[in-house]
Amino acid sequence: MRLLIGIDDVDSPRGMCTTYAGALIAEALREVEGLSFLDYPFLIRLNPNIPFKTRGNGAVAFYLEVPEYHYDYLKETLVSIIERALIRSRRKPEPVIVFYKGTSSKLRRFYEKALTSMVTLSYAERLANELGVEYYALGKGGRGLIGALAAIGAIPLREYTFELLLYRSPSKRGRRAIDPKWILEIDRKYRDYVFANFDFSSKRLLAVPHGPDPVLVGIRSVNPLILDEVRIFLTAKCGDVKKWIIYKTNQGTGVHLKRSLKIAAVKPYDSCTISGVVSSNPSILKGGHVKIKVRDDSGEIDCVFYKETGFLNRVARFLKQGDRVAVGGGIRPASSRHGLTLNVEVLRVVETVKIRKVYNPRCPRCKHRMKSAGRNKGYKCPKCGFKSKNVRKEVVVEDRILEPGVYLPSPIAYRHLSKPKRLMGWDVKYLSNLH
Ligand code: ATP
Repeated sequence: MRLLIGIDDVDSPRGMCTTYAGALIAEALREVEGLSFLDYPFLIRLNPNIPFKTRGNGAVAFYLEVPEYHYDYLKETLVSIIERALIRSRRKPEPVIVFYKGTSSKLRRFYEKALTSMVTLSYAERLANELGVEYYALGKGGRGLIGALAAIGAIPLREYTFELLLYRSPSKRGRRAIDPKWILEIDRKYRDYVFANFDFSSKRLLAVPHGPDPVLVGIRSVNPLILDEVRIFLTAKCGDVKKWIIYKTNQGTGVHLKRSLKIAAVKPYDSCTISGVVSSNPSILKGGHVKIKVRDDSGEIDCVFYKETGFLNRVARFLKQGDRVAVGGGIRPASSRHGLTLNVEVLRVVETVKIRKVYNPRCPRCKHRMKSAGRNKGYKCPKCGFKSKNVRKEVVVEDRILEPGVYLPSPIAYRHLSKPKRLMGWDVKYLSNLH
């Protein structure tokens, strides 16, 4: 029988992470006689703007062919693996593991909602019960059901990349023993097939996390075969590697911003793209963040380009009232200090307005700038005294620095789902099918 398994919310601020639990489960699944993986393990990133996430709002899923007689044993084994992996803290975790034998377009829709908006636990529970999804909540609460259900709803992924994750022992803390030179060597060798490993502008390593989780390093690629070579290379260099896994993932595809919304329809915590006209020139806020307003035929919204987005923040300063743009990002709820705001992750400049400046004419005799001689009296030159009613104002169309195109943040500000510059214009699905 075909079986989908989804897991989420295994991590806590004190350690562990859902991807590591996925690696433990993958190891256990490999031992089950007669079981086959119908695809890679999946790492599914969901709406990056929801407040409940610990880090990257990731959930894990498996798509398997399992002998029917193993089903109960499998459920028991996997539940106990997750229970043993948990590091409990005051509020977290709220782990849930789901098992589903069917297929349903409703699950796909649930995934799309969880990717782009805030969904309620009661909606997830209703759907799981309606479809007959078996689920086990192993902590204080059952919030993990949302991510676990969305993760199985994402299968099969239509656009995807891959990530190799290497782990050290979960009990090991402190600096990760990864030499940045190794990552640069990988980046140089496989450039165009790997991405988001290093930010060359800020000289920051992106592949190595800093939290208390067991991830040693994560290398992202459009080709899983390259990742196998990378795994052999890094395992030979770093003695701390205790476990590894290659996930197929929606990371680097930009899917969370594919939903276009009218401004009047956006809700707090949505991830979306809105199209409209810049209705106020940029203002610079405290901290160097840039704010503009964008208007469409349904309303107007503040859009903020945070200083941390680096290149994007610098580009936003060149926008002008009247420019046609599409802006993608997360909706920040209104507060006493600001209204509903779009925190911009991607900017597409569709069309720039021409900036026309009108000056008094130059004197035909001495080229000095003339002055008005009074109402309906033409102009006179303050330098040589020349007067004329036949000279006209000079209209100058200023060159714009900003050109139509897509503008992205500096890599240091990429979110897991952001489509990086290296993959712009590439069909990631096609590329990952090259193997
Ligand atoms: P890690 O990457 O270590 O797993 P995380 O950042 O993924 O950490 P989680 O512990 O998984 O954080 O917490 C996210 C929680 O939010 C989960 O309980 C998940 O079910 C829930 N969740 C995910 N997407 C949504 C959504 N769109 N609306 C409401 N809740 C969501």
